Amino acid sequence: MKITEAIFVQSNTEYQKCPTPDRPEYAFIGRSNVGKSSLINSIVQKKDLAKTSQTPGKTQLINHFLINKSWYLVDLPGYGYAKVSKTEREKFEQMIFDYLHYRENLKCTFVLIDIRHDPQKVDTEFMAKLAESNIPFYIVFTKADKLSKTAALKNLESYTTKMLETWEEMPYYFVSSSVDGIGREEILKAIEELNLESKA
Ligand code: GDP
Repeated sequence: MKITEAIFVQSNTEYQKCPTPDRPEYAFIGRSNVGKSSLINSIVQKKDLAKTSQTPGKTQLINHFLINKSWYLVDLPGYGYAKVSKTEREKFEQMIFDYLHYRENLKCTFVLIDIRHDPQKVDTEFMAKLAESNIPFYIVFTKADKLSKTAALKNLESYTTKMLETWEEMPYYFVSSSVDGIGREEILKAIEELNLESKA
C-alpha cells in the first residue's frame, strides 16, 4: 500500500469522543520508549506525524490519524511508565482498555516490544488481557537494527520459547526497524488485507 496522505485528526481522553467509527482502525501501543512514534512516522513516511516523545509517559492521549482518507491509525499512550502515580496510571490504563474494548471499528492492535528484551510482565499481562477480551493483536518487535541478524533471531526464538510456557501459541509477529524501514511493507500489507476484509 502506498501512503498518499496522513493527517492528524484529533486527540482524546475518551473513546466516546473519538472520530465517527466509519472506517477500519489500527492501534499502536507499547511501553514508553519502545519506538512507537518512530514506527508510526516510518509507516506513514512523515517525519513528525507522531511526535517522537521527549518525555516518556507524557503522551497520554488517544491520537487519531487519517490515512489515505480510508483508514485510521491510532497512537495510544505508552503503558507501564513507572514515574506516574498509581492512580494516574490506573486511570489511563482504564481509558486504553475502554477504547480497545468498545471501539467498534478497531480491526487490530499492534503491540510493540523492543527486540532486545526478554518477555516483561507489563507486556505479557497486557497481551493476556487482550487475548482474554478477544481483542485481535499482532506483536511488532522494534529496533531490529540494534542487533545482528543472528542475535535478532536468537532473541525471537528465546522470546517465543518463554511465551510458550504460558501461551498456547505465539501471537503472530512482525520485526521492524524505523531506521532502515524493516517490517514497514509487511505491516502495511497486513493492514491492507484487513481493510479489504472489512469491505467484503
Ligand atoms: P516511543 O516513546 O515509544 O514513541 O519511542 P520513540 O519513537 O520516541 O523512540 C524512543 C527512542 O528510540 C528514540 O531515541 C528513537 O530514536 C529510538 N528508536 C526508535 N525506533 C528505533 C529503531 O527502529 N532503531 C533504533 N536504532 N532506534 C530507534
